[in-house]
Amino acid sequence: MTAGTFHQPVDAAEVPRFAGHSTFMRLPAVSDATGLDIALVGIPWDGGTTNRAGARHGPREVRNQSSLMRRVHHVTLTEPFSLANIADVGDISVNPIDLLDGLKRIETGMRAIVDAGAIPLSVGGDHLTTLPVMRAVAAGGSVGMIHFDAHSDTNDTYFGGNPYTHGTPFRRAIEEGLLDPNRTVQIGIRGSIYATDEHDWARAQGIRVIYMEEFLQRSVGDVMAEARAIAGDGPTYVSFDIDCIDPSMAPGTGTPEIGGFSTREAQALVRQLGGVRIVGADVVEVAPPFDVAGMTALAGATILFELLCVIAEGVAARR
Ligand code: MN
Ligand code: MN
Repeated sequence: MTAGTFHQPVDAAEVPRFAGHSTFMRLPAVSDATGLDIALVGIPWDGGTTNRAGARHGPREVRNQSSLMRRVHHVTLTEPFSLANIADVGDISVNPIDLLDGLKRIETGMRAIVDAGAIPLSVGGDHLTTLPVMRAVAAGGSVGMIHFDAHSDTNDTYFGGNPYTHGTPFRRAIEEGLLDPNRTVQIGIRGSIYATDEHDWARAQGIRVIYMEEFLQRSVGDVMAEARAIAGDGPTYVSFDIDCIDPSMAPGTGTPEIGGFSTREAQALVRQLGGVRIVGADVVEVAPPFDVAGMTALAGATILFELLCVIAEGVAARR
């Protein structure tokens, strides 16, 4: 496809935002990722949640709130739908009552997107969904990661030895050789922890953990320059857990932690991912049952648009 034939969103100046089918960014819904540069995809699954479930409802509400996004980024003037062919490929077929089958289905669905040559930009779902996504995206190699979260998600097991929860995906990803800890940075970590040594394992692997308190002593630009340097030139995954944002601005999530980023800081952070070779990205842990007036889904949809802009810029630069 050429730029003139890329999928385009429904124009809100012609059809009002509240009308028509609900898709990510009001883009066409397509049945598979063939011909796409970037595939927007929902993963409505929260089988890894240890506390308040509900992120299974995330994709539908983020689709709804994404109807508020327009065509052009107001700061960078990026026009993602002119730079890349993008569509909504629907939701991964999930199994809400079988964890291992759920993980398998997510990996299979994401592998179809990756095999079609598209970069997956997904909306979860809880953070365990990132593990099977990485199994597809990093197949045959490993990826670095720029990770925005209140939590490190590198715990070992829960509830008597269970290895698969939304508190453990990145330990599993490192163990499986999918994630290169030396090219991984976690930003915004905060909140009480289970034990004094909770983050020792992550640091010992080589992960750079930037706590919220360190972020507050530095600028967005300074932190992101370090993050880009850690990711380097290699394939990199970007994972955005909505609970990195303060619960006063994003209450609709399963594991809220006060003292978080403002939505404005979150936008500024994501905006500085330019130049990173992003091979996949996600927005996870939007849990609409705990949301207020759709504000968390709107934050998620807006971060999704920010990610879409930087990924589309990268696609165009490498074309
Ligand atoms: Mn997380
Ligand atoms: Mn979190």
